[in-house]
Amino acid sequence: MPVYCPGVAGARMRGIAVVTGASSGIGAAAARALADDSWRVLVGARRVDRIDALAADIGGLAHQLDVDDAGSVERFAAFVAAAAYDGTVGPSRLLVNNAGGALGWAPVAETDERQWRAMYETNVLGAVRMIKALLAMLEAHGDGTVVTVGSIAGHEPYPNGAGYNAAKFAVRAVMSAMRQELLGRPVRVCEVDPGMVETEFSLVRFGGDAERAAAVYEGVTPLTAEDVAECIRWVAARPPHVNVDQLVVLARDQAGARQIHRRPVQAD
Ligand code: NAP
Repeated sequence: MPVYCPGVAGARMRGIAVVTGASSGIGAAAARALADDSWRVLVGARRVDRIDALAADIGGLAHQLDVDDAGSVERFAAFVAAAAYDGTVGPSRLLVNNAGGALGWAPVAETDERQWRAMYETNVLGAVRMIKALLAMLEAHGDGTVVTVGSIAGHEPYPNGAGYNAAKFAVRAVMSAMRQELLGRPVRVCEVDPGMVETEFSLVRFGGDAERAAAVYEGVTPLTAEDVAECIRWVAARPPHVNVDQLVVLARDQAGARQIHRRPVQAD
């Protein structure tokens, strides 16, 4: 619910929203959607040039953030606290835990342990670090919200995806436990779990192999980053007493992690 914002003449602001992994894909789109919906958006990611440009575009603020690095999260939280207490919009009210992704495509028998550790580090511990760093501020607001971006991969395991599945299943476990731990306190705990979204996700998963990444979306109309951003914006904009625990959103061409309808692709 918008509140009067004394620092911005005549403006009605919802409050401060933090978006992690905002340098591309869903995070960048979510930052834009939230800014359009009267949030003051603070964005973080490792690629600072991208988030600086985004923040300038949406009237937000950017700061370098590597969720794998406890020191970086601490510095980011200090930046959020400074923005939150500058007298304009009060303490941070929304955390969108979006930073994450998949690395590799291999059966369990051929597991690359470094990739599994990296996925757990970013998707699970990264989200947990952000929650630990910002929870007091969210609670101090009196109406805080955490929205974590999970995945259909956290609901249904699929061959060659076990490392990513394990990480996103863990994200769901963490969110579910926290929802129970915070019961009775003024913080909502929400999860948005998309299916296939065309972003840099597959390019990262396949180590920069653009052809392999493009093949993932061949013959399919996948979700766009903006589709998922709109879900995040909607979840965050519900009234304080409404907690959207889990929102699973798939393309019409996808009926689960493994069931994808592909149309024949015309040769040039
Ligand atoms: P993307 O375009 O690759 O974006 C990933 C974002 O995460 C980037 O902004 C990246 O920024 C950031 N990131 C990665 N590691 C980070 C770290 N250590 N610290 C801070 N930021 C980090 O992919 P996307 O599809 O938008 O993915 C966003 C989220 O949606 C992820 O959690 C992903 O698992 C989830 N998801 C994606 C899909 C899909 O099909 N695309 C489906 C379901 C769920 P920097 O590299 O600049 O740090």
